[in-house]
Amino acid sequence: MPSAAPPPADRGGEGADAVLLTPGPLTTRPETRAAMDRDWGSRDPSFIALTAAVRRRLLALANAGDAFTCVPLQGSGTFAVEAQLGTLVPRDGHLLILVGGAYGRRMVEICRRMGRAHGVLETDETVPPTAAALAERLATEPAISDVALVHCETTTGILNPLSELATAVAESGRRLHVDAMSSFGGIPIDLGRLPLASLAASANKCLEGAPGVGFVIARTDHLASCAASAHAVSLDLHAQWAGLEANGQWRFTPPTQVLAALDHALDALEAEGGVAGRFARYWETCRTLVDGMRGLGFETLLEDAVQAPIIVTFRAPADPAWDFGAFYDRLAARGFVIYPGKLAQVESFRVGCIGAFRADTMARFVDAASAVLREMGVEMRAP
Ligand SMILES: *Cc1c(COP(=O)(O)O)cnc(C)c1O
Repeated sequence: MPSAAPPPADRGGEGADAVLLTPGPLTTRPETRAAMDRDWGSRDPSFIALTAAVRRRLLALANAGDAFTCVPLQGSGTFAVEAQLGTLVPRDGHLLILVGGAYGRRMVEICRRMGRAHGVLETDETVPPTAAALAERLATEPAISDVALVHCETTTGILNPLSELATAVAESGRRLHVDAMSSFGGIPIDLGRLPLASLAASANKCLEGAPGVGFVIARTDHLASCAASAHAVSLDLHAQWAGLEANGQWRFTPPTQVLAALDHALDALEAEGGVAGRFARYWETCRTLVDGMRGLGFETLLEDAVQAPIIVTFRAPADPAWDFGAFYDRLAARGFVIYPGKLAQVESFRVGCIGAFRADTMARFVDAASAVLREMGVEMRAP
């Protein structure tokens, strides 16, 4: 088996070795990619054991006790969210969705397509929702049975106050479903203390695995009561769970190599000191980025108090020489791939802090950005 090495001391070259400063798929360790270099029979005992181990390890990361189960699902993260909402929000339920960006809006679209009754509590993209506003809404709308929210809204990089919001939902007697896609594995989530009904995440963000598999961690008693609730055969989390519990096998072709990479990525996470160790590394990388870019004259979209150490949104400079496409291309030529903005109102771009690289790599990114801005003649970096 490949070893679980700590993140390489420095990353970044051209072409295939580019550092992905994106929210996933992202830069992975060579050892994680090497773990995919074999074939697995999906019904073979070795793959059944691998699946069981990964399910157990994901539960342990969230300190999920016996009350929870982990159900992996083929596909990208959105498949897991669609399966989560479709299976765990009852057909006659009513879901309140907290919306503060594109991923909250995606949950609204999922409910609209499924025909599940839902409402929206929308906040400005730069301001997290408050527990007080949520509690008030829950008190005035008795029809609401379930609540869904995004932990870190990757649209901006904002961190929502999960603990306070979860308490408000629990005190009102509703169930809470969380999209923890861009936080799970990078920001501590303690299901021993947080009263959640479920959370969804995927292999290719803070877990630093390969893309192709998502998972939902759910309270087993609730999941067990959701037979035939799902709107789609392939996204039926109850059936997926029942199949895995019955014989350890996936119902349909599993992403075998991706699961092997995830198992290796979990070794690497452990070797790094678990979620706490990774959280510390991401913060160091994030601070290097924010301090460095502010030093160049850029402004962040968010105030520091609400910034998660996952991805940072910068406002586009006002200088007429600014051109995101040119900035992107020149950085890519220097081995750094960034991400466009996703905001309706403000021109912006994003830089991810997650992936298998360290703060020294981010410092080199800031140097590269500085050089590229000089080449482009962008002098005014404030918006
Ligand atoms: C990445 C992400 C998703 C899922 O996106 P996919 O492209 O389907 O993997 C969902 N929610 C959040 C908050 C995300 O960051």
